[in-house]
Parts: sequence; structure tokens; C-alpha cells
Amino acid sequence: MRCLLFLRRLLDKGCHHHRDHDQKDPSAAILQLSLDILSLITDNLALHDKFLLSHTCKALRQVTFQNWDFVLSRLSFEDQSGFWVGLAYTLPNRWACLKCCKLHHIDTSDVPAAFQTVRYRGIPCSIKHSRGIEVEVYSMQHYHIQFALKLSRLGKVHQRYLAALMDTYTRTGISFIPPLADSYTAEPRIINKRFILLEEWNIRNNTSTALPLFPDKSRLPLPVCPHMRMLFGGPARSRSWKQSSIHRMVHMSNNNNMRQLEEFVLLKEVTLLEDGIALAYESPGQWIFNSCLHCPTDFAIMISTDEREATIRAWHDFGIEGSPIDISWKAHVADKNRHWLDVGPYVDYSHGSIRELWSEGISHRTRTSQGKLRSVFTKLIESLSEV
Ligand SMILES: [Zn+2]
Ligand SMILES: [Zn+2]
Repeated sequence: MRCLLFLRRLLDKGCHHHRDHDQKDPSAAILQLSLDILSLITDNLALHDKFLLSHTCKALRQVTFQNWDFVLSRLSFEDQSGFWVGLAYTLPNRWACLKCCKLHHIDTSDVPAAFQTVRYRGIPCSIKHSRGIEVEVYSMQHYHIQFALKLSRLGKVHQRYLAALMDTYTRTGISFIPPLADSYTAEPRIINKRFILLEEWNIRNNTSTALPLFPDKSRLPLPVCPHMRMLFGGPARSRSWKQSSIHRMVHMSNNNNMRQLEEFVLLKEVTLLEDGIALAYESPGQWIFNSCLHCPTDFAIMISTDEREATIRAWHDFGIEGSPIDISWKAHVADKNRHWLDVGPYVDYSHGSIRELWSEGISHRTRTSQGKLRSVFTKLIESLSEV
């Protein structure tokens, strides 16, 4: 980094004043250096910085000359990702697609609320339900977040697109659970250079009869995060199904000493939402707060005092600018190849801090690094494989 700053200082002393980059500028400080010194500096640059430098002028292109296709082909996927993400960080019109392993051009009509429109596009590549937690017409993709953070950092360029990316989205209208009414709202914000998304689900009983707000026979779309999905109906039915599944699984394992503890902890982890709803029913009119253990998501549930309205909020922290393979993004993405109980490693962050950050809009020390601890499920699977 120190090397890059030094290089920028050298470049600032002349090279960029000449628009004809192929003309060697004799006043550029960097070009006064001997080839050996210059090589020492450029050898310490990240590959994407070297690539960008090679495109500044003819002289620097010669110093940093490489067969880029060949160099890239020899890199691991992680290093290739770093290269594309590093380039996209600097270039305002590009985003790094790791599916195609290249940069794509900005499309200012591609916003989270246009998911149905852009989902089936053939060019440059189709997109899917990436987080697996979106509603049908709103999908926050990794590149949306990266564009929002980058354009916010750069200022001046594509500010209208930035505003569209940061638009609040609300879905009302046809209910998923008639005769109950339901709505969904998503509100993105950038706070302390972090991308935070607040989602809210609201369920109301506007009929004259008493009805359960979480009916067991309907599939309720309450995807608070990939680790807290309700399965097969309302909270009571979902909890009971999860409990019997875990019970069967734990008793298939050969770890007798750990059985009861494993079962208890695992059930507790995967029924945070169901238990939160039950608790909210016991304390109507009060917010019940909790946080996911496997992704930086705080959530809150409230049942109104007349029990005719339920509100669920989730605050997701997608972190600072980065790569799709960073834990700050991956933790939010559902892996369809995993067993539903395999919720991934624990993520280390201060529970409640994302909600506080949102409401206060001030600096909080939110840690989102990946925890070293393996989840209970991982340990259980290991013991099963020993059977
Ligand atoms: Zn692509
Ligand atoms: Zn989660």
C-alpha cells in the first residue's frame, strides 16, 4: 500500500497532465527513475494495480509488460477474483462477475426492484436468486451493493443510478396469505461505508373475525435470512417438523455423550424465528429482539396488543466494498447444495449492533469476520460420517 501511494505521488507529478499517453512525458517524476528502481516499486503492486498502471502510458506499459491472459490463467480462482474485484474497485463503469470471470459494463436499468426484468437477460449473463431470501420482484445482488458503495465513494459519477439502487421498495396488493393482508418493504442505506439493508414484513388481519396471523396451512414467505427460514407452514408446525428431523439425525450419530446437547443447541439455532414469534405472542405490544448466529442479521418481532398485526424486521450488514467470495456476502447467501440444517460456520459480530447502527447512524465497532468455530451441524455431520 505504501508502495502504491508512492507511485501515485510520482504519477501525479506530470504523467496525467499529458492526455497523449503514448508520448513519453519527460517531466513525469516516475519516468526519471532508473528501470531497476521502477521495477522494485512495480513488483510490490497487486496484479490489478500493475494492470492499470500498464495502461497509463507507453513507457510504463513496457516496464509492466506481461502476457495478461497467461498470467491470469495460472492464478487460483481466489486470486483471479481478487484481480477482477480490484479492477472494478477503480473503474466506475464496470463490475466484477465471478460467474463469467470478467468485468461487465454498468447497466443503469438494473436495480433490485427490476429483478423480474433483468433476471432472464441473456447478455452478459443471467442472474438468479442469489441470496435465496428475496421476494419475487426485489433482489439485492452483490454487484448492486458494490456499485452503491463505489458510486457513493467516488461521487459525481452515475449518481442517478446510485439513487435508484438506494430506493426504498414496498410491495403491497395481492396477499400471500388471504384473507390476511401482508406487505414487504426493503430499505437500503450506506452507513459508515457499510451497506445495510432493512427488510420488514407486515401481516394484518383486517377481517371482522379472529384469525391466526401465522396460519399453519399456508406457505408464509418470511425469509428473514437463509438460516431462519420457516419450513412447512406457520411457526408451530415448522418448529415441530425441525425438531423431529433433528431428533432423527442426532440419534443416527454415534456420539452418545453429545446427543442431548447437540439436539438442544441445534434446534435452538434453527428455530430462532419460530421461538421469537412465540415469545412475541406472550408479550404483545413489545419488540422481541434476536440475531442470527450464521450471518450478520439482527431481527425484531412484534405482535400488536389486539393480536391483529405482526411485524418482523431484519437488519442485514453486507459490510464494506469487497468480493462475492468474502464472508460479508457469502454468509448471506443460501447454498442450495447444502442440507437445510447445515447453516454454515458461526459469524462473529456484536448482536444488536446492526440495528443500533441503523437507528443511530453513528459509528459502531461491528465485527463481521468469519468465526473459527465450526457449527453444531458440522460436528454432527463429522460424527455421522464415523458411523
Ligand atoms: Zn457474468
Ligand atoms: Zn442468518
